[in-house]
Amino acid sequence: MAKRVMIIGWDCAAPKLVFDAFKDDMPNTHRLMQAGIYGQLESTIPPITVPAWMCMMTSRDPGELGIYGFRNRSNYTYDALAIANANAIKVPTLWELLAEAQQRSVVLGVPLTYPAKPFPGWMVTSFLTPVNPNSPLTDRKLQWTFPPRLIREIEQVSPDYMIDIPNFRTDKRAELEKQLLKMTRTRFKFARYLLEKKQWDFFMIVEMGSDRLHHAFWRFWDKTHHKYEPNSPFADTMRNYYRTLDDELGEMLARVDHDTTVIIVSDHGAKRMDGGICVNEWLQKHGYLKLKTKPQGPTRFTSDMVDWQQTKAWGEGGYYGRIFVNVVGREPNGIIKQQDYENVRDELKTQLEAIVDESGQNINTRVFKPEEVYHKCNNIPPDLIVYFGDLYWRSVGSVGYNSIYTYQNDTGPDDCNHAEMGMFILKNGIHTDGHVPTKSIYDIAPTVLKEFGLDIPDAMRGNPI
Ligand SMILES: [Zn+2]
Repeated sequence: MAKRVMIIGWDCAAPKLVFDAFKDDMPNTHRLMQAGIYGQLESTIPPITVPAWMCMMTSRDPGELGIYGFRNRSNYTYDALAIANANAIKVPTLWELLAEAQQRSVVLGVPLTYPAKPFPGWMVTSFLTPVNPNSPLTDRKLQWTFPPRLIREIEQVSPDYMIDIPNFRTDKRAELEKQLLKMTRTRFKFARYLLEKKQWDFFMIVEMGSDRLHHAFWRFWDKTHHKYEPNSPFADTMRNYYRTLDDELGEMLARVDHDTTVIIVSDHGAKRMDGGICVNEWLQKHGYLKLKTKPQGPTRFTSDMVDWQQTKAWGEGGYYGRIFVNVVGREPNGIIKQQDYENVRDELKTQLEAIVDESGQNINTRVFKPEEVYHKCNNIPPDLIVYFGDLYWRSVGSVGYNSIYTYQNDTGPDDCNHAEMGMFILKNGIHTDGHVPTKSIYDIAPTVLKEFGLDIPDAMRGNPI
C-alpha cells in the first residue's frame, strides 16, 4: 500500500501540558507517544504562528522567507507595515514538493495559505483570511478554499465552520469557551469528511483553538501566574479543551490505517505572561526615541508622534519586541550614520539585556541580530529581535505609561506569551523510543519527504527526525 502521512497541528500546544499536566486526560495522545517518539520541538526565532507554520512547511527560516512576523516593513518609511499572505512565500511548500512527485494533499487551516493557490489537492485557508472568520461561508468570492467549489462541501458537511474566533481577546470568557469548542468540533468534522472522501497521500490540519485557549484561560490553570484565580468557573477549561483535542485525535486515528505515519506538532509553546515591557517608553527613557508631545495616558504609537530628527530607534509591540534603527540614507529622516549602526545595535543590546523588574531583578532579556540567526535576511528584517524577560514579558508598543512596566495588555486581555519550545509526536511504526532529545521545527518537512522516499532539497534547514 502507498505511503500516507497525516499531520495534526495544535497551534501553541506546550510540551508540559501534553506530555505531563494533561497526560491522563489524553489517552489517544498517550497511546501515540508510547507507540512512537516524542519530545520538544524548537520553534523559529521568533516563536510566532506567522511565520512558524510556513517555516515548518518549507524548512526555511523567517529570514529566508523574508517574513519576520504578522506584519512586516514593506519599505523603509516609518509606517509601512504590511500583513503577510501566501503570495509572500517564494519557496516551495511541502505539499508543492509532494505534488511534483504526484502526491495529493489535503491542507486544512495552515496559517499563511491565503489566497489558496491551485495544486493537486484540497485546501481551506486559515485565519488572516479576509472573510468573516465566524461565518466564512457567506463569502464565496475570495480564494479561501481550493478548489473554490470545496466551499459547497463545507456548507453541506459542517455548515457552522469557523476559520477563527473574532475578538478572542475578551472578558466574555463563558461565550469564548463555547465558541472555542464549536470551532474545533466543526473543523475536525470537516477534516473527517476530507479524510474519508478524498484521495490523499499527505493530510494536514492545524487547529488554532489551542492558541486562543491559552491566551484567554492560562491564568485559571497556572498557579504561578500573577493573576491566578483559585476556584474560578474556568479552572477546568484548559483541561477540557485538551480532552476535546484528544477526542478529535482519536476520531481521526480511527479513520486511517495503521501504516499511516502520524505526526502531532505545535508551532511553538506557551508560558505564563508576567507583564509587558513598554518598548517605546524604554527607548525614550534611554534617549533613543523623542516624541513631539507627551501623550496623556496610554496611546497607540504612530509615526507622526515622533520627532524623527532626534530619534535613533523605535520599537514595535507583540509577543516579542522588534527594534528599528533610524539610519541615514535608509530611513527618510535617518540620523544614525552607517558607520555607527553596529555600535548603536551593540549598545542597545547591552542595555536591553540589563532590564530589571520592579524589584530590581534582571529579567533575562535576550536580543538577537537577524543576520546572526538567519541564513539570509530577505525583505526588511527588524534591526534587533528582543525576547523580553525570556518571553515571560511581552513587548508593548503603546506610549504614555510613564513607566516601562505594564500589567495590562494594550491589545486586550492576554494571560500567556509564546514559548520557544513546542512539541511533536511521531508514529511511523519504525521509531518507538518514546521520549527523545529536542528536535527542530525545520525537521518536519524533511521527515515527511523521507517518509515518502523523496530527496530532501539542500536548501532545507532541517534533517529527518
Ligand atoms: Zn501559533
